[in-house]
Amino acid sequence: MATVIHQREKCIGCNYCVELAPEHWKMSKKDGKSVLLGAIEKKGFWSSKISEQDVDVNEKAAKACPVNIIQIR
Ligand code: SF4
Repeated sequence: MATVIHQREKCIGCNYCVELAPEHWKMSKKDGKSVLLGAIEKKGFWSSKISEQDVDVNEKAAKACPVNIIQIR
């Protein structure tokens, strides 16, 4: 297991994470920021548990994110 963390407030809605890992990310029609599926929020940080096999796509998303607000732990 790993954890994906999204500092959602700083998201600029570029859509890269959604393109690279569509099973884990979607865009919000409400505010134009991305949503980490299944995530729970704590002090502005949204986190979601993922299986090892899903680490790669989320790491790609993290690397592609222009504002560097996706972390994998
Ligand atoms: S790649 Fe980063 S800035 Fe772009 S939509 Fe995803 S979280 Fe937001």
